[in-house]
Amino acid sequence: MASVATMRGHLTNSSLLRSDVLIDGKWKGAASGAKIDVEDPFTGQIVGSIPSLAADEVHGAIAAAETAFIPWSREMNRHRGALLRRWYELVMANQEDLARLITLENGKPLKEARAEIAYGAAFIEYYADEAGRIFGETIPPLVPGRQLLVEREPVGVCAAITPWNFPMAMLTRKIAPALAAGCTMLIKPASQTPLSALALLVLAEEAGIPAGVLNIVTGKASMIGDILTASPVIRKISFTGSTEIGAQLMAKSAPTIKRLSLELGGNAPLLIFDDADIDLAIETAMVAKFRNSGQSCVAANRIYVQRGIHDTFVKAFGDRVRAMSLGDGFDPATDIGPLIDEAGVAKVDEHLEDALSHGAEIVAGGKSQGGHMSPPTLVSGVSSKAALTREETFGPLAGVIQFETIDEGIRLANDTPFGLAAYFCSSSPATIAKASRGIESGMVGINTGLISTAVVPFGGVKMSGLGREGSRYGLDEYLNMKYICHAGL
Ligand code: ADP
Repeated sequence: MASVATMRGHLTNSSLLRSDVLIDGKWKGAASGAKIDVEDPFTGQIVGSIPSLAADEVHGAIAAAETAFIPWSREMNRHRGALLRRWYELVMANQEDLARLITLENGKPLKEARAEIAYGAAFIEYYADEAGRIFGETIPPLVPGRQLLVEREPVGVCAAITPWNFPMAMLTRKIAPALAAGCTMLIKPASQTPLSALALLVLAEEAGIPAGVLNIVTGKASMIGDILTASPVIRKISFTGSTEIGAQLMAKSAPTIKRLSLELGGNAPLLIFDDADIDLAIETAMVAKFRNSGQSCVAANRIYVQRGIHDTFVKAFGDRVRAMSLGDGFDPATDIGPLIDEAGVAKVDEHLEDALSHGAEIVAGGKSQGGHMSPPTLVSGVSSKAALTREETFGPLAGVIQFETIDEGIRLANDTPFGLAAYFCSSSPATIAKASRGIESGMVGINTGLISTAVVPFGGVKMSGLGREGSRYGLDEYLNMKYICHAGL
């Protein structure tokens, strides 16, 4: 195990820091001894390591989840719910340590890491309750003497593949409904941020979740992805990550006809209409753009501002962006931490240079100063040809584009192959009705940049993905319908 002394973030409960994986109720390293280092994005120092498993070890984890499936799926729903409830309580009791692990491996400000733990834990709590509410149906028959029933059954062994930007919440919104439904699961966290995932499993084990029900595999992503997609035992894959990898997983899952949930890239628009409350508009832009340093698939990537409010908005937004502080996530004053890696910083710089070459002007901030630090930046006068309006920037760079009419704003918002989140600000009922219907997107925030909770269906349309997470719809993703026709009654 890695030493807690090597960590900048000190843990109260040192048992949460693991460098091995949980498979079939046993913690183990790779038989080969191969490891992958985990880096603190602020200092660049190695703060932990995880096993790089071989193919047969991944197959072993699949076999463990398969063996655990029958007993787990036949447990009383209330019992599964009670174990999830205990897990939720343990997660919240360890909130501070889990948050510190996230700041350590991801770099996000500690206050945001704490919020992620509470948000992520809320999915466990929600599905702890939902486990007892997996209802069937009866359908009136068309001929006498028949009873038509619909039962809901767990899909089977499932796999979750998750990204580094919300390392804990992206897992709990998959694991909690899967386990509530009676599925067993293998999880593959992002190699950059596995420490919080391992800690989550320490607590799941402590909560009494039985051996083999929840297993974690770490190592070479493409090798693990190929094994999971090819396996006939895995009946469903839930993936959050890039559209490119999501499409590959979908293609590779075709031969075994797996169910898929895909939460992929976004390119969220934020429209500020002339009649918006300016303070609310600034708040919305701040949260929608800069939460998690802009490293979010629901981050506002394109900010369209109507002409009448444009100059006032840009000035006030620029003042707020300038006032943000860039630094170490462990420093309570920090608003923007390091980005996950140098490639992330380079992409933001490229988007900035490209916007400037298309005629944009810097209002606040500027280029990165090296390392993983990308300053909060605002540019105005962005051309619709600029890369930052077409692809996810995934960093703290905001670009403002002016528009004239409501119809033009909606058309610009929809000018993308993606459709995850969209936001707009207005105080006019007519504009609100028109924009919320006109925007092609799975989720719409009106006068707010913060829309995700455990009780609502999170997901996208178009190339942003398939399926929903959270709410009762998120449970359906892990349930099959079985129609039973009972004749001769
Ligand atoms: P991001 O840009 O957020 O890193 P990715 O789609 O590359 O997005 O990664 C999301 C998750 O998918 C991570 O856990 C990563 O390790 C995993 N991943 C990357 N490549 C593959 C692959 N070929 N097969 C399966 N999983 C993959």
